[in-house]
Amino acid sequence: MSKKKQKQKQTDVIIVGAGIAGCVLAFHLANSRFEVKVFEKEKLDNLGHDWCDSIEKKAFAYANIPPPKGKERKNDRDHLVILSPDFQSTIHLKHYDYWIVDRKLFQERLVALAEKAGAEFNFGVEIVEPIGRGQWVVGVKTKEEQVENARIVIDCSGKDRILAKNIEILDLNVEMKKKDKVKAYRELHKVTDGKIDWKNIPIDKNLLYYRYGFEKGFSWLNFEDNNHLEVGAGVGKGYSDRSPKAIVNDFINSKSNVENEKIRGGGGDILIRRPTTMVWYGFLAVGEAACQVVPTNGCGIGPAMIAAKMAAEVAADALRRKEVSINSLWQYQVNFIEERGRNHAALDMLRKHALLFSEEEFSFLLNKGIVTKNDLELMIQGKYKKIGLLKMFLAFFKGIKRIKLMLKMGKAAVMSNRIYSHYKKMPKEYNSRKYFEWLLGHMSLFEEIEQK
Ligand SMILES: Cc1cc2nc3c(=O)[nH]c(=O)nc-3n(C[C@H](O)[C@H](O)[C@H](O)COP(=O)(O)OP(=O)(O)OC[C@H]3O[C@@H](n4cnc5c(N)ncnc54)[C@H](O)[C@@H]3O)c2cc1C
Repeated sequence: MSKKKQKQKQTDVIIVGAGIAGCVLAFHLANSRFEVKVFEKEKLDNLGHDWCDSIEKKAFAYANIPPPKGKERKNDRDHLVILSPDFQSTIHLKHYDYWIVDRKLFQERLVALAEKAGAEFNFGVEIVEPIGRGQWVVGVKTKEEQVENARIVIDCSGKDRILAKNIEILDLNVEMKKKDKVKAYRELHKVTDGKIDWKNIPIDKNLLYYRYGFEKGFSWLNFEDNNHLEVGAGVGKGYSDRSPKAIVNDFINSKSNVENEKIRGGGGDILIRRPTTMVWYGFLAVGEAACQVVPTNGCGIGPAMIAAKMAAEVAADALRRKEVSINSLWQYQVNFIEERGRNHAALDMLRKHALLFSEEEFSFLLNKGIVTKNDLELMIQGKYKKIGLLKMFLAFFKGIKRIKLMLKMGKAAVMSNRIYSHYKKMPKEYNSRKYFEWLLGHMSLFEEIEQK
């Protein structure tokens, strides 16, 4: 193929996946007048999920997406209540900075926004691999063996990571282990008589309830409106064999005032590993494809929206400068790691340690206030604050009768602090040697806990 012919076929940007990250990116890049092609394996009608999700309020402002309203937004929650696995503690957090959003309607709105801005959507087209030239990613191949070229190619394929997993460089193709996943499931049911209790704890319809640490994950109850209750569960894969669907159904079957018929719902795996490499020559990964989900709550929509806005800014700048090498695109990785990634890495470390605690130990930590209300607020918001010596000492004092457990807690705190500091030191400019050293350093910090 002649160079001229190849150039004619080249789009500015190819985005694989029309989920949250893909649509937000397409919207911003098309708005900046770049030619954007989106390839999505599903038909438009199958996009989004048939349920409601919690989405960080601030992600809408950050990503410049109008907030949800009307039918798209369900009743706001006044605050979140955390229950210990043994139901002995009921901890009311200050607020809940999330909106409960209908995922079908939200997804439809995002596609419409991006289409209106000028992005071209190709539904029902599955991408099977990236096309490389030398060290560059220059296009994608469809299942029908069609080749599409672009100046920048962006993987927004969510947990499939269809491009990233096929780029054998740095740790873009890192294997996602079972323990890097949560299996989540949720169902919406009608309640005939509004009163519901959870092991004798009365459920207030304005609040969202999380049983944190149960089955190496969490279960939740939320009244979407006066008569409709959502029951959900997330289970740490590789740590618990329980099916989240069975947990949900057990609860529903135990309540005579909850109708058996499922109104909506479904489930799937969520990648909750910390993020590392997200860029290469002519290539970016955004959203779950770049492991950007909050490890301690499984929420990936807010981070995907924020990352998409960051990626769009950096990609637009690189396209204008006609310089789309890793050196130019690196700023996206730096921005995400600074804003969210280092928090997620520390929370991933904390989570991996906490998963080794038994439910009884986890309940003890909550019941004694060793894991505090403030710690829980941060975990739910996807933030990490380095744990100081004084806090460690006070915690140790509260749990003095459980020395072994407190030592495990101390180790979790020390390792989380260390990985947080390590992420702060990620090179601000791309240098293959320095970045490789940083990656190795990160792997060695996680090595011990990942072998358990
Ligand atoms: C049961 C459940 C409950 C959840 N609850 C919440 C919640 O309450 N709050 C929250 O923030 N997050 C929640 N999440 C996680 C959240 O849904 C994801 O993290 C988020 O959607 C990630 O956005 P994304 O754009 O990266 O990927 P997605 O939204 O998953 O989009 C990826 C898109 O890529 C497409 N695709 C994949 N492979 C290919 C291919 N080869 N070719 C073309 N297209 C492809 C897919 O069809 C999909 O449309 C939940 C997940 C599950 C499973």
